[in-house]
This record gives sequence, C-alpha cells and structure tokens, in this order.
Amino acid sequence: MRPLIIPFFIPHAGCPHTCLFCNQHLISGVKQDLPSAELIQETVQQWLARSPDRVAEVAFYGGSFTLLPRKQQEQLLGAVQSLIEQQKIKSVRISTRPDALDEAVLAFLANHKVTTIEVGVQSLDDQVLQQSRRGHTAAESLAAIQRVKAAGFQVGAQLLPGLPGDTQVKALASVKGVIAAGAEFVRIYPAVVLSGTALADQFNAGQYQPPGLEQGVKNCARMLHLCLQAGIPVIRIGLQAEEGLSVDGAILAGCWHPALGQLVKAQLYYDLVEMLAGQFLSTEGLQLVCHPDRLSEVQGHARDNLIHWQQSGIVIKKVQTDANLQYDQVLLSNIQQKCRGSIITTCIYKERSDA
Ligand code: SF4
Repeated sequence: MRPLIIPFFIPHAGCPHTCLFCNQHLISGVKQDLPSAELIQETVQQWLARSPDRVAEVAFYGGSFTLLPRKQQEQLLGAVQSLIEQQKIKSVRISTRPDALDEAVLAFLANHKVTTIEVGVQSLDDQVLQQSRRGHTAAESLAAIQRVKAAGFQVGAQLLPGLPGDTQVKALASVKGVIAAGAEFVRIYPAVVLSGTALADQFNAGQYQPPGLEQGVKNCARMLHLCLQAGIPVIRIGLQAEEGLSVDGAILAGCWHPALGQLVKAQLYYDLVEMLAGQFLSTEGLQLVCHPDRLSEVQGHARDNLIHWQQSGIVIKKVQTDANLQYDQVLLSNIQQKCRGSIITTCIYKERSDA
C-alpha cells in the first residue's frame, strides 16, 4: 500500500527568488502564512482518523523549505517529532532548491527525521535556467542530488520542461542527467503560464509561447518512457488541480489538464502501438490486447487513441484484455503477423538531436 502523504503547502515561504514562472499562491491555492504547530497536529490527526491503517508521511511542499529561517524550520519539523516518536507518522519529506542543501542543512534535516528531499532542478540546461532566472546552475543541481543521496536521504527531482529556451532534446537530457546523478523518483511539471508571473509578461508581449497540451503531452510521454526504462518512478505529472488554478484567467497558456498523467500514459501506449504497427505488412484489421487494468490508457481518453490510430491508417478492429499480459505490455496482431511490445522495454522513440 502506498504511504499516506499528508501535505502542507508553504507557498513561496523562505524563498528569496522570483523565478520567471513562479506563482506559488496560485499553484497551492494557499494564501495564509506558515501552518502553526497546532494546525499541523490537528490536520495529521484528521488524516490518520480517515486512513488508520496506512503508513503516513508529512510533506512540506512549495517554497524553499531550507531557506526558511531556521527557527521556522524547527517550528514546522518540531510539530511532527512527537507524532514520529508515537509512530503515527513514519517520516517527513520536504522540497527545496538545489543551492539550499549544503552539508549543515542536511545534518539539520536528518536530525529532524526528514527522510525524503525533492530537489527543484527544473532543467539541466544552464541557458534555460538563466532565462528562467533560477539563480543556480545545472552543476549545482547535480551536486545537490549526489550530496543528498550520499547523506542517506531518498532523493527526487522536479523537472519543468517547456520553459523559455527549452527543447525536447534538452528536456530528455535533463531526465537522463538527474537519473544518472542518483534521483530515485521524478516529478514532471510541464510549463504553464500563470497569471501574475514574469513569464506571463513575456507571453503577453508575444516573446514566449509554451508547448500547448498536445505537444506537452508528447514531450512528457518521452520523459516518462526514459524514467520507466531506468526503473525510476514518476510520482506526478502536471500541477494538481488546486482551487487557485481553476479560477478563470489563472492559467494563460501551456500544457495543463486535470488528468494530465493519464493523457501522458495514453500517449505512450499510442506511440508504442504506432511503432509496432510500422512493422506490419498491412495495418488494416488489427487486434490489440492489453492488461485489463490498462485498457483505458491504451484506448486513450474518450477512446482518442483508437480514433487517431485510424486517422493515421492503423485500423484496430478489436481491443481485448488478457490478465496474463504484464501491465506494460500490448500484443498487436492480424492474420499474418503478431508483435508484442512494452512501454518500458520496447525502444519506442528514435534518438533526435535537432529539436
Ligand atoms: S525557487 Fe521555487 S518557490 Fe522560489 S521563486 Fe523559484 S520556483 Fe518559486
């Protein structure tokens, strides 16, 4: 059973930066100050009462946790220490910037029972980082991931493809780079233009156009494929549909959908079947088989995949399920040919260096 993650958002708290794309208040839907110790403890108890059997973890998201004044970090972490001692909470996770994770910081976090650190990498291309006013380099991100891992924490990387100056090739290189540095899980947040950001000013001035939903989903599918191949879980794709984002005019452009992760997985199956069909002498009257739990992803949102395959000449006459297939596998066949593929092990995409 997956751990119960009890999230607390500390939007922009402690962060002296103003990244081009950032509007943490909109992302989290939270406008108040840091949660008090009482609020944290009460909230944890409420969540535990609803899911008494699950292993629970407290997460402090948003902002840059380790740039908060030390007293406030102690206040937040202190609020959960007794819950950990009583074995109500197993661990704590935080997210922060790569340049706010030196050895002293890591020692402090370890002493306060933080076990997982998510590093806001965004991109491993220095030009993209500079254009996004991140204020740190790719080398600092890689060193931070390595340092966090060496100190015994579980380490994750947050990536943000589609920022100004980014390309699909750079985004894929960023995935490979964080995995090679030791990231144990990844979050992918494709670029969206949020109102009230410097990125919105660039967008409104016609200086920047993010990849839209269709292109963003295609890019994310490739990133997901790399992670799957490396055995690295992608624990989130796309911003949560929080209250702030659903306000009219909050999102001006970019790749956003409340079920973006599902769209990306469906795209991966679409690309897999398209690649397999390319090996068939005839792409008429094909039969497609997948694991029952993957049927909706294979067919796509509102059966979009079936429609789009047909439009590109791949006519699937029947989709069936077979529980003996692995979750990641599909079987494509017609009277003459049969071909098995996997969204993990099949090499779906050709390497490109031009995008
Ligand atoms: S470092 Fe994080 S919280 Fe701070 S401005 Fe950038 S994205 Fe926002």
